[in-house]
Amino acid sequence: MPPRPRKSQASALFPRSFRKTFPQAVRGRGAWIWDAGRRKYFDLAGSAAVNLIGHGVAEISSAMVRQARQLEFVHSSQFTTRCAEEFAAEVLAFAGPKFRGGRVYFTCGGSEAVETALKLARQFHVERGEAQRFRVLSRKQSYHGATLGAIAVGGNPRRRDLYLPMTRRAESFEQVNPPYCYRCRYACKDCARRYADEVAEAIAASRGQAAAFLFEPASGATLGGVTPPRGYLERVAAICRRAGVLLIADEVMTGFGRTGRNFAVEHWKVAPDILVCGKGIASGYAPLGAVIAQRHVVEAIARGSGAFMHGFTYNAHPLAVAAGRAVLQHMRRRKLVARAAAMGEALAEELEALRQCASVGDVRGVGLLRGVEFVADKESKQPFDPEGNFAGRVAEAAARRGVLVYPMQGCADGRAGDHLLLAPPAIATKKEIARAVAQLRHAIKEAETSLLR
Ligand code: PLP
Repeated sequence: MPPRPRKSQASALFPRSFRKTFPQAVRGRGAWIWDAGRRKYFDLAGSAAVNLIGHGVAEISSAMVRQARQLEFVHSSQFTTRCAEEFAAEVLAFAGPKFRGGRVYFTCGGSEAVETALKLARQFHVERGEAQRFRVLSRKQSYHGATLGAIAVGGNPRRRDLYLPMTRRAESFEQVNPPYCYRCRYACKDCARRYADEVAEAIAASRGQAAAFLFEPASGATLGGVTPPRGYLERVAAICRRAGVLLIADEVMTGFGRTGRNFAVEHWKVAPDILVCGKGIASGYAPLGAVIAQRHVVEAIARGSGAFMHGFTYNAHPLAVAAGRAVLQHMRRRKLVARAAAMGEALAEELEALRQCASVGDVRGVGLLRGVEFVADKESKQPFDPEGNFAGRVAEAAARRGVLVYPMQGCADGRAGDHLLLAPPAIATKKEIARAVAQLRHAIKEAETSLLR
């Protein structure tokens, strides 16, 4: 029998889990969050890789208030707004020269942006007279959002399997293996080429029906900061280009400075046809996502039917766009992308020392997107029994010690495999990071002991 629901029964709010009680957050400042009981927490997870600029930056809320006073909302079927126009131009410039002449489509978050990108890819091919292309190839062990379309193309079994009967057609879309070197299926022998070959094979197997290849440049929550071996993304990009398959980079977690570059694809000098953004674009100050499309993608529609068959009521919501704009200006002024790179190195150095813990099998990541994978046995890389919820135990012990981390399970095979994702705001100091990781080390030891009991 499942344990009886506790405190959240008294609440009218539908919670994430009925088996947990959530402290009430009341205030945020810098890399810290306070709850109603005056406990403070260091945000080593950036909520969920959302916050890069820190909490409580007054100029962002001021920009939102200014916009709200002037104009709270108009519908994008009737009006454009100055703040959306200006921010779109700034976002295009931030995405780099390959996106010159492209367009930006603003949504309310990452899942909506993924849905938008999938539909954009489909319409792109139809407009060009290739209506047979509808399959979106993606990778196992990926996450692209919570809506049904995003679930259908995602590869996280824990978040996906329940809903698969509702996404029948997409069930047959091919998913290739992610390059995951700690558990490399090719023992890291020429693995960049062999993983990329899997993409070529999936495209060939689609018999001309492949519309796009969707991927996370560095894996977010599902694998916990796994980065591809050199040469992989470059090859995948060339394969897709040759096959006329659109390359869609899901940068909801990795974009807007998180990895120490404007976008993570820049680490591998790859320019996707479509970039998908969320989270960091407004650092959590407002629900905002975006799809950034290169010129040729946009022109297929502009010069074809002339209208994208898609839209949400809250496209380019003025308050969200005002928040995003203020966040980007703030990031520029404070040089936060460069700081994310520097603090990412500092975080990596601290995390490396965790390898001394009996349960820490791997430490990985890029910039301020880092992962720690736990194993029951380092030699064999045997994961813990998922029932033991090792990552969850670490996260709870860390929270008791005033440090927030993002625990996940499933990295080894979709079900087993415990890991943490760490993604603090770039404004965190070296001292704060060192202290937080020291507390994390104690939390890991506590979880190890509790599992042995
Ligand atoms: N894509 C990736 C890579 C993500 O990490 C997420 C969320 O974690 C999403 C898409 C979905 O974004 P949202 O939760 O804002 O809808």
